[in-house]
Amino acid sequence: MNRHAVSTLAALIFCTAATLSPARTLVHAGALIDGLAATPRKEMTVVIDGDRIAAVSPGYTAPAAGDTVIDLKSATVMPGWIDCHVHLDQQTSATSYSDRFSMNTGDWALQAAFYAKKTLLAGFTTVRNVGDHDNSTLALRKAVNAGWVVGPRIFTAGKSIATTGGHADPTNGVNSRLMGDPGPMEGVINGADEARKAVRQHYKDGVDLIKITATGGVLSLATNGMNAQFTPEELRAIVATAHDYGLKVAAHAHGTEGMKRAVEAGVDSIEHGTFMTDEVVALMKQHGTYYVPTISAGKFVSEKARVPGYLPAVVVPKALLIGPLIQATFQRAYQAGVKIAFGTDTAVSAHGENAQEFIYMVEAGMPPMQAIQSATAEAAKLLGQEKNLGTVEAGKFADLVAVPGDPLADIKLVRQVSFVMKGGVVYQP
Ligand SMILES: [Zn+2]
Repeated sequence: MNRHAVSTLAALIFCTAATLSPARTLVHAGALIDGLAATPRKEMTVVIDGDRIAAVSPGYTAPAAGDTVIDLKSATVMPGWIDCHVHLDQQTSATSYSDRFSMNTGDWALQAAFYAKKTLLAGFTTVRNVGDHDNSTLALRKAVNAGWVVGPRIFTAGKSIATTGGHADPTNGVNSRLMGDPGPMEGVINGADEARKAVRQHYKDGVDLIKITATGGVLSLATNGMNAQFTPEELRAIVATAHDYGLKVAAHAHGTEGMKRAVEAGVDSIEHGTFMTDEVVALMKQHGTYYVPTISAGKFVSEKARVPGYLPAVVVPKALLIGPLIQATFQRAYQAGVKIAFGTDTAVSAHGENAQEFIYMVEAGMPPMQAIQSATAEAAKLLGQEKNLGTVEAGKFADLVAVPGDPLADIKLVRQVSFVMKGGVVYQP
């Protein structure tokens, strides 16, 4: 490039910078739950510059020329909600069990895109996906980040890591001629070496965290929903390898023994936690383990277990035993002071209804403000994203959700989301 061209280019850059006014968006919030303060702040302005929050100011800041104002004076504005337990590429139905014989990789990914949009428009600007098919949610994460599809920010575990015959062994209940013997490349492990291999393969695939199924589960085609399914040695190998590679570990667990082993091995969160004893509560507090309750899933399976033919016969007794207990487990864990991050296990219940979990949490005695914080500041900590997400503060991503009126007075308002912003872009429900 000659000298003239360089100076022309410099002039062009200078002119562009000088003539464009800074594109700011001012959100006028009647009430602001910022994720930090114990009470909402009235009449606030959130200033957004690009995809981040530039400032949070008292009063309704007047716009400068070129600024966009969003009037939410009659609403309560909150940090975008985070659901720490979803499966975007599926949803329970009467045909769920046969779907896996006809669904290909692209089908799972496109179905995930469909449910991702519903999730975002329901106010959930971030999700932690803890188990998928064929890494469909890694493809989804790429598509959302590229702007190809509309969806929340995605932190994904890829496929759950299981043991042979354990919850999330994809061949459970399958005709023996089709069954095969999945190994660590398919996320099924036996022994510490295979555990390490599976974690490293997941890292190589590009996951954000590791999910394991530490005990049996309700919806798998197997008799026991509670038994411990990993040896302590396998669990230690998974956690040590995951932490070496900078990945957190989420552990599905219903039964006490599997939960105990997982917490002692150092997992970062327990999902469901149904038979959480006082001993497990004490261990979780000692280790700083998060609890992700998924009351919504418990309610859904216990209801569907009563619909003849909806769930397979082997699943029904497990659903009736485990489902109704989760809300009471949540209540005990909350009262005992276990750290709680919001999670629904949506896919079991319908996508887009995630906010119902807030209502269940409040029903069980958690104050609405704390329930909201479990889905914002606390969930961001579990994700290791507290610098970017979870509060309305300068420097964080401009992820906001609003509901009409005061959700602290009437928690059911969380089902009436009126405004969603992710990364400074408005998505209207
Ligand atoms: Zn799940």
